[in-house]
Order: sequence, then C-alpha cells, then structure tokens
Amino acid sequence: MSFSSLGLSEKVLAAVEAAGYTEPTPIQAGAIPHVLARRDVLGLAQTGTGKTASFTLPMLTLLEKGRGRARMPRTLILEPTRELAAQVEENFSRYGANHRLNVALLIGGTSFGDQDRKLDRGVDVLIATPGRLLDHTERGKLLLQGVDILVIDEADRMLDMGFIPDIERICKLIPMTRQTLFFSATMPPEIQRLVDTFLHNPARVEVARTSSTADTVTQQVVASGGKDFDKRETLRKLVDEAQDLKNAIVFCNRKRDVQTVFRSLQRHGYSVGALHGDMDQRSRMATLDQFRKGELTLLIASDVAARGLDIPDVSHVFNYDVPTHAEDYVHRIGRTGRAGRSGVAISIVTGSDQKYLAGIEKLIERPLAWLGDAIDFENAATDQKARRRSGGRTPRDNETDGEAKPRRRTRAGSRDRKTDKPEAEKAGDEAVVDAPEPAKSEPQAEAKTEQKAPARRGRGPKSATQEEKRQVPKRRRGNGGKDDEPVIGLGDHVPAFLLRDTRPKKAS
Ligand code: AMP
Repeated sequence: MSFSSLGLSEKVLAAVEAAGYTEPTPIQAGAIPHVLARRDVLGLAQTGTGKTASFTLPMLTLLEKGRGRARMPRTLILEPTRELAAQVEENFSRYGANHRLNVALLIGGTSFGDQDRKLDRGVDVLIATPGRLLDHTERGKLLLQGVDILVIDEADRMLDMGFIPDIERICKLIPMTRQTLFFSATMPPEIQRLVDTFLHNPARVEVARTSSTADTVTQQVVASGGKDFDKRETLRKLVDEAQDLKNAIVFCNRKRDVQTVFRSLQRHGYSVGALHGDMDQRSRMATLDQFRKGELTLLIASDVAARGLDIPDVSHVFNYDVPTHAEDYVHRIGRTGRAGRSGVAISIVTGSDQKYLAGIEKLIERPLAWLGDAIDFENAATDQKARRRSGGRTPRDNETDGEAKPRRRTRAGSRDRKTDKPEAEKAGDEAVVDAPEPAKSEPQAEAKTEQKAPARRGRGPKSATQEEKRQVPKRRRGNGGKDDEPVIGLGDHVPAFLLRDTRPKKAS
C-alpha cells in the first residue's frame, strides 16, 4: 500500500516523501482513512509503530482549511509526559513543513507567560499534558469550545499516572460534536469505560502487540544482593566489564533510584546523565541531546520518562531493577539491537524478583540466561523471612558483604523497605513527589571502600548538567502529590463516577 492511496493532501504527501517513508505502517494504513472520514478512532498500538504519524498526517490534511482564533485552539492532543508532547510537536514541525500552522506546547516546567502569548496569537494545534492544560483553563486563558479534533494518546500511561480524572474533566470542556482519536497499548476496564463514555461508534484499529524481543539482542540476567549498595556495585561491574559498550541506558523502576544511581555513578567518575519526571523540561531535553550526540555514555532513566522517546540505537541496556510489568521489559530491551544491529541487555536480579522474572520469561516465551551464578530463589525467600523475623541481618548477609563496611542505614533506605510496593510506586512514578534525598553517609562509605576500582568504561570528562531542580507538581492526584503526608478522606481526588455524564447516551 502507498501513502497516496490514503486520501492525504498533496502537501502532506510531499512531507512524507521528504521524511523518506515509502509505505504506511499498519496503524497508519488502518487509522488514516477513518480520521479523514471524520470518524472517531480507537487505536490499539504501542509507541514505535508509527502511531504519531497515524494522527498527525490526517490532522494536517484536515487543518488545511480554516485558522485558529485567539485562545480557542482548533485541535488538542493530550500526552502523558512532557517528552512525548515535545516529540509530537517535532512531528508537526517535520510533517507540517509545507503548512503555516500555529502549534503550541503546553507543558509544565516552562513559563506560563510564553504559553499565554502563543495562545493569544491563535493556535491550530495545541499539544499538552493534562495538568498544565487544566491550569490554563482554570486561569481563564484557554477556551476549549473551538476544539473539533481531540487526540488522547497513550491512554493506559495516563491511567498509570493518575491522569484519568483530569482527562474526564477535559473531555467535558470540549463540544460533544468533536472527533476523538484515542490511542492506548492496552485496554484495562478503566480505559474501556473512558472509550464507552467519550467516543462515538469508533473505528477500532489494532496492531500486533510487542511481546517479543529482537533476536539480535543478547539477553542475560545477573544475580545481585538486594541492597541498593549491592545493586550499584553490580551495575558498575557490568559497565566496566561490558564488551563493545558504546552507550547504555540504565532503567530504574523508581525515579528516586534514577537520581541515586545517577549521583553514585557520577561520583565514581562515569559519563552519565539522568532522565526522570521531576526534572525540569530544559534539563531533560539537554540531557537527551547530550546522549544523542554521544557526549554522555550512560543514561539513567525511568520507564515513564523514557517511554516513546526517539533515542537512537544503544549498544547496551541495563535493568537496574527488574521491571514489574513484563511489557516494560520488552519496551526497554527494544532500545538496543535495532535495525539488525547487535545489542546486549542485562538485568540485575535480586532474591525478591522471582515473580517479575517469571512474568518476563512467560511473555517473551524463553528463559533468560544467567551471567554467572543463578539465584537460588528458594533460599533467598527463606533468608528474607529470617531477616524479617530477626529484624535485621542474617548469617548470609555477612557472607555476601565480604569485607566489613561501616554502613549506616539511610532514612530514605529504610523508608524504601517499609513501603516497598513496586506496582503502586511505579504507578505514581512521574506523578508524585520524590522521596527525600538519601542521606550522604552511605554513598560516602561506598566511595571510600571502592577507590581501588579499575579504570572504567563510560568514564569520561563530561557529565550531565546539574540543573536538576525538583518540580513539585501541585496536582490533584490522591494525596495531592505528597508521598509521606496522610491523606484525609479522599484527599483532593474526585472519584471518576462522580464526574461521569448523567445524560443518557445517544444511540449511535
Ligand atoms: P512512533 O510510533 O510514532 O513513535 O514512530 C516510531 C518511529 O517510526 C519514528 O522514528 C518515526 O519517524 C518512524 N516512522 C513513522 N512512520 C513511518 C513509516 N511509514 N515508515 C518508516 N518510519 C516511520
């Protein structure tokens, strides 16, 4: 099939040709004709499938008629993260090279003033994260009555991040006559309910799920002690001993670990940058840019921050944590071994990761090979129970620690252990305030005991900029974004059922 058979305008076809695309991907071939026919679309597709062009190309065609009015955008695209929003904006610049459209990006971490000025000039395409968009509507600076195409992208990620009440509020601010394009990789009941409530007789376009990893990726797992200190030591060893390491992404499950691992590697002299949801937008973009240009060798990232990013091929992926969602493993591994090139993916596994490792092996339908000794999960479980009973160390702890290290437990560390709920924490990864900074005592002890480490891969003169100021989202999720404050009643969360439209649905 060719792009010219899909009904796209001449200007768009010229931009597609300039981008070097010869054939539409399945999601593009499936969705574009429906979008052009002004139908609602439910697209079941992951990032990497060409999903962005499946809505930007027909939108550009439809936008060729008309102009945006001040503070009344004609189209709205909602994205869960700032990076994805910025990436969609890039897509509009690339594919819209032959159009003269005003595109505005409304994301946190950048000033309201610039965004207001753009809105005042009249916007054809508004790309936003839900929180910042609602801030603008609440300030009376933005009217959504003129929106006639609404795109909700990565809906299941929105759910993970607690954005669904915000999405419901936004949907109600836009006329019912709009066209809605809705994309999600999975269809949990909450997402299905959104679809049933806000889409009208959508055309369903589904592309195959990614549940396999490329054959060009060597996948291994390596055993590590369960303490943060052990895991960081294991990671450094992996980096130092990796063959042909050009660059690597290190994935952590929690953003506070992204920060801790980043600082630790930086202190050890590695060329390293960090990418997580609490960093301001400029730092994130600067770090990504440095990584793309090869000025940083290691990028420490959380799933949500890295999701969907167009990061070039990397030689190695290290999972500092085994992901709790097996599909995230496939997504992480997909960063390497692209286009037939070889790649290496190694996951650090601890005694408590048995369930998650089994989930991954089930999804990819093959066992992962151990680099070195495998973990004896039965004994690891017994050890954990013994540790819990004795409230502290077991004989095995003393064995694995080797030389005695005077380590104090950090406050953040002990909090971790008490509240260690990977699923729940992951869900809030980008949406809640980070835990307190770890106390300095542990990393200092670590640096002291490991000074004799050999020259390391990934070491380099340059490291990421330090302008990683925290941003504290003042949003409406659950406990108001505060990890450690008690929530009274429902907090400021409004249950979705209270927001539901009570009018009877029109028969379609
Ligand atoms: P996405 O799933 O939208 O994040 O797209 C993933 C990557 O595929 C991006 O780097 C796009 O530039 C690229 N891409 C999108 N459509 C096509 C196409 N029809 N042919 C080749 N590459 C494409």
